[in-house]
Amino acid sequence: TGYMANVGVLSALPQAGDVIFSDALNHASIIDGCRMSRARTVVYAHMDMDDLEKKLQHESGGRRYIVTDGVFSMDGHVCPLPALVRLKQTYGAVLLVDDAHGLGVLGKSGRGTAEHFACRDVDIHIGTLSKSLGALGGYVAASEAICRYLQNESRPFIFSTALPPAVAAAALTALRLLRAQGASYVAQIRDHIAYMCRQVPTISQRQPPVPVLPILTGSSAAAMQYAAACAEAGLLVSAVRPPTVPEGTARLRITVTAGHTLDELRRGADILNEQGEKATWKQ
Ligand SMILES: *Cc1c(COP(=O)(O)O)cnc(C)c1O
Repeated sequence: TGYMANVGVLSALPQAGDVIFSDALNHASIIDGCRMSRARTVVYAHMDMDDLEKKLQHESGGRRYIVTDGVFSMDGHVCPLPALVRLKQTYGAVLLVDDAHGLGVLGKSGRGTAEHFACRDVDIHIGTLSKSLGALGGYVAASEAICRYLQNESRPFIFSTALPPAVAAAALTALRLLRAQGASYVAQIRDHIAYMCRQVPTISQRQPPVPVLPILTGSSAAAMQYAAACAEAGLLVSAVRPPTVPEGTARLRITVTAGHTLDELRRGADILNEQGEKATWKQ
């Protein structure tokens, strides 16, 4: 899984004496990987490159690793990759990007955050086969030396059973489709994102074209009630609550795909708006 890929890289590669610089809103699997690592972890403020640079200057010693989500999974923010690459080069750090939400979505052909910014200087790409590819599994793409090292040292990779062939074949097929028709999928999903943002004014993500569409409700109870009302009306949408997101920022998180029809999107938007308007839980 993507979870195991993050844990597997971060627990195997950084050594005692090294320092991992990690964005404050990184995915839980990165946080857990940092905890399992023998390296020290320094958390920098979310996408704050001044804070990261200050911390890079402050810490000397072993090797430095910078780890970030490519697209942050709860807000849809896209990481400032060009600035991260500059800092990585200036301070001789290793840059890891978890592109679970970038693959299949960002970049002209859907290759992810690095393609979006035309950045080639990412050392380790981590991701999942379970989001845009619709299967299950995680991946790490890096130099041959790093991959070989991980094959021999990464405990989640070594000590857990590999994917069932059927699942691997599904992921491979999805990857081939993405490679062959990425540009048309990307165009489609952008249309769908724009459509949902137009139709549902309470969606707070007004950023680049990422299908992570949050509707903030504030309290956890409100998010749960809103989700239950939507489910009653025929729309399955999950409520995200602390500790997955910071206190007071509970939300519904909606995702659209290239495969939705406009009719499906219209029905989804109608339910979100109707149930949202009825709500006594609105703040
Ligand atoms: C979903 C997600 C993962 C975990 O991937 P799984 O394959 O579901 O384990 C890791 N990182 C990010 C940023 C994610 O959004």
